[in-house]
Amino acid sequence: MAFIKLIEHSSRRGVATHPYPEKPFEVDELYRGKPVLDASACIGCGACANACPAETIKVETDYGKGVRRWTIYYGRCIFCARCQEVCPVNAIELSREFELAAKNREDLTVVAEFKLGSCAKCKGYLDVSIRHVELAQKLLERSEIANIMQELARYMVMCLKCKRSFFVEKLGEATRG
Ligand code: SF4
Ligand code: SF4
Repeated sequence: MAFIKLIEHSSRRGVATHPYPEKPFEVDELYRGKPVLDASACIGCGACANACPAETIKVETDYGKGVRRWTIYYGRCIFCARCQEVCPVNAIELSREFELAAKNREDLTVVAEFKLGSCAKCKGYLDVSIRHVELAQKLLERSEIANIMQELARYMVMCLKCKRSFFVEKLGEATRG
């Protein structure tokens, strides 16, 4: 009897399940799915990697090749959207894609590389990408105190070693009067 009641109930209510994967499953507008990088906008700053609680994103500097390497491994992602929140140039966004099954680790990994900037003094590699330097310079140019910032702009495109000697030089000038 219980079985007949169940059939009656089902015929009244209709089909409650979705025929996925035969038919695509539409998720909500605000659904948090696979984070997607816009490599043409990314400056390789590493803010997303620092904010990622699951160590899904890594940003490493390869001074041998002169590149900043950005890597995401989706197998670790918890879809928290911290990367999207902290990105200063909106280069990473959570999509609504949720089908992330893959046969191997490589298929769940995305890598992007960005050329490193070079030191204005010694021409060695900086620890930031060219794009990062260019963006900082643009922001300085737009700044209301652009003239005062000219010296700072020179300092900004120096490697750590040259920055140190620049400071010592300036300190020497200041103390000599
Ligand atoms: S959504 Fe969260 S866990 Fe996934 S990459 Fe972004 S910060 Fe990391
Ligand atoms: S925070 Fe944005 S710009 Fe910086 S590395 Fe991540 S995706 Fe690229």
